[in-house]
Amino acid sequence: MKMGQVILVGAGPGDPGLLTLKGRQAIESAEVVVYDRLVSQAILNLIPENAEKINVGKESAHHLVPQEEINQILLDKALEGKRVVRLKGGDPFLFGRGGEELELLAEHGVLFQEVPGITSAIAVPAYGGIPVTHRDYCSSLHIITGHQRAGKPLDIRFDALVKTGGTLVFLMGVSALANICKGLLDAGMEPDMPAAVVEKGTTPAQQSILATLSTLPDVAKQKQVKSPAIIIVGRVCTLSQKFDWFDKLPLKGKSVIVTRPKERAGTLSDRLRALGADVTEFPCIETIPCKPCTQMEQAVERIDAYQWLVFTSPAGVSTLMDMLYSTGRDVRALGRIRLAAIGPGTDRELRKHGLHADLIPQVYDGAHLGEALCQEKPTGRVLILRAQWGTPALTAALDSCKISYDDIRCYETRYTCPNTEQVRTLLTGEQAPIVTFTSASTVNGFAAALGDMDYSNITAACIGAQTEAEARKHGLRTITASQATMDALIQRIVEGE
Ligand code: SAH
Repeated sequence: MKMGQVILVGAGPGDPGLLTLKGRQAIESAEVVVYDRLVSQAILNLIPENAEKINVGKESAHHLVPQEEINQILLDKALEGKRVVRLKGGDPFLFGRGGEELELLAEHGVLFQEVPGITSAIAVPAYGGIPVTHRDYCSSLHIITGHQRAGKPLDIRFDALVKTGGTLVFLMGVSALANICKGLLDAGMEPDMPAAVVEKGTTPAQQSILATLSTLPDVAKQKQVKSPAIIIVGRVCTLSQKFDWFDKLPLKGKSVIVTRPKERAGTLSDRLRALGADVTEFPCIETIPCKPCTQMEQAVERIDAYQWLVFTSPAGVSTLMDMLYSTGRDVRALGRIRLAAIGPGTDRELRKHGLHADLIPQVYDGAHLGEALCQEKPTGRVLILRAQWGTPALTAALDSCKISYDDIRCYETRYTCPNTEQVRTLLTGEQAPIVTFTSASTVNGFAAALGDMDYSNITAACIGAQTEAEARKHGLRTITASQATMDALIQRIVEGE
């Protein structure tokens, strides 16, 4: 029988970019994933579609899955021979009950591994601009649980902590905040000792406050601080005024919806997140290769009859390559044909296969691609591999200079609406979101998924003129990139309206 195993993975504190490479590999090859409440959606999106997902952090009437039950689930799934990932917020072994979860597995001789995570105890202060140690201020760091059992006093040796003179970091301390500060004051810490709270750290909703030991409870109450939050006490807190980098990111506080197909959303989303945006992926279209694509196969069979091969999207390139590889061929089947790509994104896809475009137009759209081809004065036929409903501007340009071509539809774009409700809530919320559109078909997919609704609150960030025109047809307010590239689109979003 196949031996199962459990990998305990730390998912980091919230920012999905803080997942480790090893953690990511474990998630991507999991058969079962058992996860907690604090794990971000972008990390959950890495779970393979066919893997079983078990949410043990669900609060149904404030009733969490009891620890013993979680331990049992891990054991049962491993004994079934499954590769189980137990995904936990921050680091599994820091106030994460990781140790408890391994006990039962060890007893039963089940194989396990632990992949440490970036802990909120250090990363959350860091995103709040607070280095937990600094040679000028302290020589130790102490991480303490501020969890207080109902009706019981806090089990913390405040006198010992005060004597260390080090930075104190409290987790799970929001409800006991006043008691924690009082405990430290009673133990002799100066009332004007800098102290901070960072709520929902490393996420777009992060809120930080800087106060002193004596004022922190009141300020936190005023600002309605809620869990999860980290309390930091120590002189390093004052550095947050100087090092407050995360709150200063250009897209901090902005909500952005990315509408690319799932497999292409990653880089745009990551780059927007790195600028501080609150990104929601809404893959409202998907590209489906035509299968079998007899026309494309026949065209490749007589590839020598063509002088140029034209791609209008990365999906065209990947569809062709998939077809070649799955029929036991490779790029050599393309012979000496010249390659034209609509823009740098499509060229990048070619480069993945050791090819590069001989021609990219100055402006990255169908009409300019057609014109650029005309200027090359082809003497042979042109083969276009693109989507159903591709723009007629490309072929119109070729017609106008009497170039002969075959326009083959090798994939189609289908509308999908996986998380429509989540997006609808965002669109009707207080904060006006920006929606990115990287093609006219993403605009149509978006409108098809959401149906009739008031779009006046939304700003559509469009990659080019054709996309912009489509967005306007749907009554969207638009901003448009100066050039049809991700760089220019991101730049335009940063510039704002
Ligand atoms: N194992 C986790 C901690 C689990 S205890 C880790 O290493 O980070 C849960 C506590 O962690 C919360 O009560 C809060 O104090 C802290 N925490 C976790 N994520 C946080 C975040 N994004 N922002 C602020 N505090 C966080």
